[in-house]
Amino acid sequence: MPLYAPPIEHPHLPAADPGLLAAVVRGEARLTPEQAFDLFRTMPLTALGRWADARCRAVHGGAIRTYVIDRNVNYTNVCNARCTFCAFRRDGDEDDAYTLEPSQVLEKIGELVAIGGTQVLMQGGMNPALPLEWYVRLLRSIKDRFPGVHVHAFSPPEFIEFVHFFDPPGSTLEDKLRWVMVRLRDAGLDSIPGGGGEIFAPAVRRKIGLGKCDAEAWLTTMYVAHTLGMFTSATMMFGHIEGYADRVHHMRLVREWQDRALLEGSEGPGDQGIKARGPTASNPRSLDPSVPFGHYVSFISWPFQRENTPLGRVKDWLSRAEDSGEFPGDAVARLDGTGDPKAHAEFGRRVRMSGSTDYLRTQALSRLFLDNIYSIGASWVTMGPHVGQVALLYGANDMGSVMMEENVVSAAGTTYCLDEALLCRLIRGAGFVPAQRDNVYDVLRVHDGPDSPDLRVTDWSRHRTKRLHVERKPTANADAALTVSAKP
Ligand code: SF4
Repeated sequence: MPLYAPPIEHPHLPAADPGLLAAVVRGEARLTPEQAFDLFRTMPLTALGRWADARCRAVHGGAIRTYVIDRNVNYTNVCNARCTFCAFRRDGDEDDAYTLEPSQVLEKIGELVAIGGTQVLMQGGMNPALPLEWYVRLLRSIKDRFPGVHVHAFSPPEFIEFVHFFDPPGSTLEDKLRWVMVRLRDAGLDSIPGGGGEIFAPAVRRKIGLGKCDAEAWLTTMYVAHTLGMFTSATMMFGHIEGYADRVHHMRLVREWQDRALLEGSEGPGDQGIKARGPTASNPRSLDPSVPFGHYVSFISWPFQRENTPLGRVKDWLSRAEDSGEFPGDAVARLDGTGDPKAHAEFGRRVRMSGSTDYLRTQALSRLFLDNIYSIGASWVTMGPHVGQVALLYGANDMGSVMMEENVVSAAGTTYCLDEALLCRLIRGAGFVPAQRDNVYDVLRVHDGPDSPDLRVTDWSRHRTKRLHVERKPTANADAALTVSAKP
């Protein structure tokens, strides 16, 4: 008998039933997709936030909210996909296409370690010029020089392209992915980030993710990582052509595959004592290395950033006199992902951009619906520091990373960059004690004393939010050079 059992659904109850929501908060009941969709559309924002906050406090307590010090290293911007929402990719022969030398990656990680960083997040375009050996050598050199740094790298779309580029042995996609992943894991890869999730519904994905893997391949990649004992994250990028039902469907797939990982993980070898430390619905976290199965530990969602992207040039819904009635994305979207793109003639030709309240509503729903995911991250990188701070009261337990460098979202117009003192100040201002965590959400330092990064600051003028994306005139083979110094 597996020890993990998903909470029970009560499909006959109305979505806003206080008894149902109280049971969801305790981890004793699960929202159906229909109930989640109803809550999203009809519950007042502040009420939705209060329930999400209650669930967050049930899982994480009411004292501490976390952040991590890591660094995004985008090792190449050469990519053979053409996602319409992407301002980062380049063809290999463009002037400002780049691939970092391993020595440049090591230098960046050295700067990270110097400020107390614990993790490097490494993602790039899908660059057909890089052989498997390039990745193996890079990972080995990172682990040789910085054995204590956690390497969180290569999102599922990159892995799917590794399978295409490297043609590994195996008769199924799972076999091939496992062959590649084992080699990268043995070279130093610790876990896999959830990049490239976007929206899973095929009708949307085919319009915006040109050349990028489908949902099944994305989820299979993560499943293989879980079978190898890795902890991963899941993401969603919304606020473009999708309907609201697509967001629920996306979360539904994450929840279903998480159930699978948790069920198989709790069925795995080990005595009852090991299994007893496995995940439960009231505490959806099992990071016991004795359990040889990983799973998703976090979910983070953010709105589409439009600047410099082909999708960003698509007209806003209701910006034209002929726009009326239901938003095309809503006319197409189905909770089971079977939406027919022909259901509305304007589907894919109009965007519905997301604002702060839509973001908070979506994040709050993710906390309530994803009852088996431990951490919900606030997306201050796209939403700005203050909405990120408010997000801590709408279901998020984690403020993400002190941002030393980010090139992908910032290429689409986002410019927020916070140092550790600012991040701590935002968390404290929301009513919590800031704490630095590691990649698996273990707390490293609780900042409850006068030597806390924010409480030591006497002059905040030196800690203002910085521009993250610094445009530089393109030169041949130039690094994108978007780093902002962590020094004051
Ligand atoms: S989002 Fe990623 S996969 Fe898509 S074009 Fe940009 S770099 Fe390539």
